[in-house]
Parts: sequence; structure tokens; C-alpha cells
Amino acid sequence: MDSISLRAKAILARQVNHECDCKSDNENYSDDEERSSKYRFVSALSMSGGNGDNSYSTNSLLQKRVLSKIKTVLVENTKEMMTNLDFPKCIKIADLGCSSGPNTFLAISQIVNTINVFCKECNQNQPEIDCCLNDLPSNDFNTTFQFLTSFNKKLTQEGSCFVSGIPGSFYSRLFPRKSLHFVHSNYSIHFLSKVPDGLEKNKMSVYITSSSPLSEYKAYLNQFQRDFTTFLRMRSEEMVSNGRMVLTLIGRNTTDDPLYRDCCHFWTLLSKSLCDLVFEGLVSASKVNTFKMPFYDPTKEEVTDLIRKEGSFQINDLETHGFDLGHSIEDCSLQPHRVKSGQKEASCIRAVTETMLVAHFGDAINIDTLFNKYAFHVSQHATCTVKTTVTLVVSLIRS
Ligand code: SAH
Repeated sequence: MDSISLRAKAILARQVNHECDCKSDNENYSDDEERSSKYRFVSALSMSGGNGDNSYSTNSLLQKRVLSKIKTVLVENTKEMMTNLDFPKCIKIADLGCSSGPNTFLAISQIVNTINVFCKECNQNQPEIDCCLNDLPSNDFNTTFQFLTSFNKKLTQEGSCFVSGIPGSFYSRLFPRKSLHFVHSNYSIHFLSKVPDGLEKNKMSVYITSSSPLSEYKAYLNQFQRDFTTFLRMRSEEMVSNGRMVLTLIGRNTTDDPLYRDCCHFWTLLSKSLCDLVFEGLVSASKVNTFKMPFYDPTKEEVTDLIRKEGSFQINDLETHGFDLGHSIEDCSLQPHRVKSGQKEASCIRAVTETMLVAHFGDAINIDTLFNKYAFHVSQHATCTVKTTVTLVVSLIRS
């Protein structure tokens, strides 16, 4: 694989230029939102960095399983994109919300391999491929780029591939106009740009639960509508016509009650664990009341409706997959397995939330204690089979 040229560069300066590109309502929108937000911990949103026991890199098996499930969707969309664009000489692909860890390069290597193998099969010259890895500036890009060597090994064909880091929010412009051919994002766009206002009535709960007022659902839905529409609008400016986008996110099954979440929903279990700390006098109730997740799990219909309304993309396919945070029913019939799977799920949720929890609670909270409680609550729900959470996989074509 010697002839493959890989260049890793975190182009921080680029972002400045991009921001000039897109003054606009988008930029004003994000600034205003940030200023007005009372949930300051949201600016700490990033997965736990490094390679340690509690890092995202070590605890992202769920996201890895999801990536292996969507492989066919990626392969098909990549091939169709190449054919419809008549085999461009230079291809620019972006992974949005790439995080830090082995998953970062999984999808990218599948896309690059598909392009190179497909070009060979079709007797076409292999293109030069620009792979752009995006995440928020607080992401541990140093750890991300440590996986470059293993990425190199995953490439099955010779070809030219250039890797760069693009720090910035995907709710703003990140790339020049009409420059992207393929966009991928796994398990990232369920994160909102902010916690919506108006959640005060729902105390001691970090997210929507069955006992939330309807206004809470409306506030979260409204924020998702604004964010997802902005996301689509930004990408529509950046992508070439007939470019492809594959988005995978956490969603929920359609039920009559938009507030319904199953009893073992991961945010419900986090709320329960925080409540335990309040009851034990380890943390104050008022502090817990002001910790809310910047997250929304849309239904298939909510996603479809927003894509249609925004109008720049055609829906190629929208699939719904089961969601499993790491404990299957078979694993959980025995007590030791229950405990172990509880710990796995706790570690996964910890890797995603620890930076925000620490930003909000500071020294007032003992993270180990909190996630021991979480693991216990998971083990109590190990035999629950009714789940509201699903994984949504949507593939889009830029009109
Ligand atoms: N795609 C990776 C990581 C998923 S974790 C995987 O499959 O394992 C979600 C990632 O989205 C985190 O790294 C988080 O920092 C990033 N993220 C959340 N909101 C973002 C935003 N507005 N802009 C860019 N990245 C964002």
C-alpha cells in the first residue's frame, strides 16, 4: 500500500474562511442560540477523548455495530454516485461527527474501497479522494489521527487518498459551495445545537419521559426541526448535484403518544441514577433539574417531513433498524451477564456524557458512583423486550 499517499492535517484556519462564506442567517442563528442558552454545559459536548478505559475510543462498540449494519447502504450509494456523476477525477467525501476512535475510519474506508474497486471493475481511472473528517473543535482529533495507520491497512486497492480534519459545527457551513460528492454521518445528528427553552416543568429528568408535559415534546421537536433543516440547507449548498448523503441517527418508533419512552430508555436510566445521588444527599436537586440532554430521537415520519419541506434532497431510501446498547436477551438470562451488560451500557453512556456532566456538576458529582448506579438500573431492566428506540438510516440524493 506504499503508493497510497495519506496526508493528515487539521486545517483550523480553514474554518475562518468558511465562516466568511456563510455570514448569513445561519451564523447569526448559531451565535444567538449560544448566547441565549442557559445550558452552558452543551458547549462541552464531545465524546471522552484518549484511549483509556472510559474513553469513547474504547466504548463505542454500539456505534461500530451500527456501522457494520449499514455497509450495504454505503456501498450502493457510493456506486450509484460514481455512475451518476460519470466517474469524477477528484472526489471529496466528508464524515460529519467523526469523533475519536476506530469507528472514525470504518465508514470512510468502506467508501474509499468501494470507489476504487468499482472504478477497476468499470475500467475507469481511480480518482484522487479527499477525505474530510469533521467534528466539533473540542473533539480529540489527535486520537482520531492515530488511527490513520490502521485506515491505511484497511484500503484494499492502490489509490490516492488525502485525509484532513475539519473542526466546526455541522449546523454551520463547513465546506466551499458545490464541493462535496458524498457525505456520511453516523450517530451524530440526533445531537441538537442547544437544549430547547421551556423545559422547566419537567424536573429531575434529563429528557422526555412518559410523565413529561406535552410542551416538552413540542420544545424538543421544534429544536430538532430548526437544527435538521439548517443541517440540510448547509449541506445542500456544499454538495454537488447528484451527490449522496447517508445519515444514521437514533430515532423512535411511531406511537400514538409522542412522550412515550420505554422504561429502560438510556436517558431515563441516567435520570434515575442522578435521582439516586440526590436521595443520598450527594448532589443537589436544583443542579439535576437544570441538566437536560441536547438530543432528539425523531420518528421516521418527522424526518421524512423535514426533508420534503426543506426541498433540496430526494429520499433514496429510509430504513429502520433495531437498537441494542449491548445486552441481548440471551446474554441477560443469567445474573453475571446482566451485571456485565449493565456495565457495558453504562460505559457507553459515560463516554458520551461525561464531558457535559463534569462541565455542569463539577466536583459535586462522583462519576464512578453515578455510572455504578446506571449499571445497576440497566441490570434491573435486562429482560424488558418492548423498546421504543430505533436506528434510522436515510440515504439522500442532492437534486
Ligand atoms: N460517528 C462516530 C461518532 C458518533 S458520536 C461513530 O460512529 O462512532 C457523535 C459525534 O458527533 C461526537 O463526536 C460529537 O462531538 C459530534 N457532534 C455532535 N454535535 C455536533 C455538531 N454540531 N457538529 C459536529 N459534530 C458534532
